[in-house]
Order: sequence, then C-alpha cells, then structure tokens
Amino acid sequence: MSNGLKGIKTVRDFELEGKVVFLRLDLNVPMEGGKITDENRITASLPTIKYCMEKGAKLVLASHLGRPKTKDDKEFSLEPVAKRLQDLLGAEVILVEEPDSDAPKHLLPSLKKNQIILLENVRFEEGETKDSVEFAQKIANYSDIYINDAFGASHRAHATIHALPSVMKDKGIGFLIEKEITMLDSLLQNPKRPYIAVMGGAKVSDKIAVIERLMDVVDGFIVGGAMAYTFLKAQGLPVGKSLVENDKLKYAKEMIERIEARNKTILLPVDHVATKGITDTANARVTNDVAIAEDELGVDIGPKSIKNFSVALREAGTIFWNGPMGIFENPAFAKGTFGVAQAIAESDAVKIVGGGDSAAAAEASGFADKMTHISTGGGASLEYLQGDKLPGLEILRTRVR
Ligand code: AMP
Repeated sequence: MSNGLKGIKTVRDFELEGKVVFLRLDLNVPMEGGKITDENRITASLPTIKYCMEKGAKLVLASHLGRPKTKDDKEFSLEPVAKRLQDLLGAEVILVEEPDSDAPKHLLPSLKKNQIILLENVRFEEGETKDSVEFAQKIANYSDIYINDAFGASHRAHATIHALPSVMKDKGIGFLIEKEITMLDSLLQNPKRPYIAVMGGAKVSDKIAVIERLMDVVDGFIVGGAMAYTFLKAQGLPVGKSLVENDKLKYAKEMIERIEARNKTILLPVDHVATKGITDTANARVTNDVAIAEDELGVDIGPKSIKNFSVALREAGTIFWNGPMGIFENPAFAKGTFGVAQAIAESDAVKIVGGGDSAAAAEASGFADKMTHISTGGGASLEYLQGDKLPGLEILRTRVR
C-alpha cells in the first residue's frame, strides 16, 4: 500500500520570507529548433513558483532537459525556457550557466523581489545523474529550503532529486507533486466503481508491472494499441505482421485467464485499421472482423472496437488511461485513440491520464481539458501506480504523523 504523502511537508509548511528556496522543477519540455512545442510542464510549475515569490522567498529554480551528453550540447539549454518563464511570471529570470558554480551564492544577497535564478540544465553537470553528494552540497551551501515539484523526475535518484534533499534539513514538496500524488492515490484507494484501466501503446513488457498491480484494484481492462496484438495472438487469432512480443504470449494468455478468474473483464479490439506498412496510408482498410491478413499489420482499432470501448467507458466511475490505441501520430491512424479520448471525456468518471504519450494523445485529441488530471510524468506515474517507491518522494518523509 502506498504511503502517499505521509510524513512529507509541503511548501505551505515553511516560513519563506527572505529564505533561499531551491525549487526543483520538471521543465523538460519538448523543443524543435530551439522553440518550445508544448509548454504544459512550464505552466504546471507556475503555482509553486508564484506562491514562493508572493511569500518573499529568494528563488533558485532548477530542472533537467533531455539527455545531453556534454555541457556543449547547447540544444539542451534551458535558455528558451528561461525566456518563456520570464514572460509568464513578469519577473527577470537570471540563467546561471554552470549549475555547480558559486554564482547563485554571489547573486542571492542582492537579488531583488522581481528577480529569480534559474540554473542551466542540471544534466550539464556530470554529478546529476550520479546522484553526487558533492554537487548536492554545493547547492545546499546557499539554500535554506529544498522543494521538489518535479514529479516527472521523482522516480530517478539524481543529485537534485535525491542527494540534495538527503543533505538538507528543511525540505518538502510543491503543489504539483501534491496534486499528482493525491490524484494517483485516488486510483489506489477507494476508486469510484466500476474502475477501468485503458492500456495501449507499443509494448506489453513496459506495462506488465502496472497491469499486475492494477489487476487487484480495477474492475476491467480495455487493451488497444500494439499491445493488443500480443493478447490477440495469445488467443490464437491471426494478427499478420502486427507488432507482437512473442516472448510475452504465455504471459498474455495467463493474464486473460487470471482476469477472468477474478470475474473481471478484459476488452480487446474486435476490428482494426490494417495496412501493409507502418506509414502506408494508401492501403489502409478497416478489417470488419478481428482477423488481420498475413501481409498486413494493425495500426489502429476499428470502429466496432471504438464503440465497444466507448460503451464500457461511459459507465465507468474511474478511468486510468495509459497508452494510445494506435499510431495516433499519423492522422490516418488516430481515429481509435481520439474516439477513446472522446468517450473518456464524455464519461462522468474520475479520469486520469498517465503522462508521456497518453498526455500527448489526449492533447492532440482536443479533449485534454475534459480530463480530471493529466499526469506530467509518464514513467513516474506508472512506477507509483505499480507500487514502487519514488526516491525523490521517499527522501522527503521527515515528519512522524
Ligand atoms: P508507449 O510509449 O508504450 O505508450 O507507446 C506509445 C507508442 O505506441 C506511440 O508512439 C504509438 O505510435 C505506438 N503504437 C500504438 N499502437 C501501435 C500499433 N498498432 N503499432 C505500432 N505502434 C503503435
């Protein structure tokens, strides 16, 4: 059972006036040619930043961005993020180029009310991914309070997520993590019934642990995307050249049996959009039945499947959605994903979307604003739901209650 937020302080628990608050955020936004293509993670971080500013804290913000190999990988610079933050906050954002330098220490005493410091991509510093205490100590030397609001990075034991709070006394979480954990806990404890998990995406193997965890909690599964073909093949159905994980066939077969033995349901696609190649829209056709020809592969669920899934979703009390129903990035193969997004949007259920590709799919469908919560962390939300402890959260349990 998850410990939720037990023993963890929030930013509200601290007197912030005049204090240096080191705020670890997840500003890891997608970029193309130096332009931010989706600023959700920035806007989701604003409430905690604004709160700290209003309470008179001196702020040092930090985040990672992508996976730079060296400091010279300038395409991973947070500069565009600094500019955007500056506009959104109406405050001056001072970008410190060396995340492990003493520059913040020198800047902080004269920092004005409408100025905040942002460290350059913490992954430019080798110590970040090594969970280096030395790097953490440099930051701790000028910080009074550590606040983690980087949900999407909290499953990683990296220096600004784990080593840093391990050497600091005053530490807690921001509003974004508080909301994420509260929402995910609502899926684990007393969910409104029926509770349906919609699973899709490319790989069964990525989702096994979460399926195992959810099996005892949900009332039913809906499975689409490439994942579905492993389940269909496991039942002896022809799936052609569809993406199948052959080493997971036995598991998929047993899983169906175990779900049914618990008197729970698993809905699989009954028709597909099939084509001869993954980008071949010209030869795409709706299959009409569950069989896919030998020279075809399934790239989306078909209209009957959308209908079946939608009927179940409209009656749900709680929905957790992780993974698209097809290759939704190609508009020709997006109908299934968008149809399911619409059914989720129209249901009265508590509806939670599990980050990453699902968040992108919800966004692309145009129904994102109808969801109860879209997690900012794909990997982190799955790890939390499957019962794993997030290092960035565990290190913050300081109070006995
Ligand atoms: P995941 O990260 O496991 O949630 O997988 C998301 C990816 O699965 C998306 O990029 C989709 O394009 C891909 N996907 C979904 N359905 C299929 C399919 N039928 N065949 C191949 N890829 C798929």
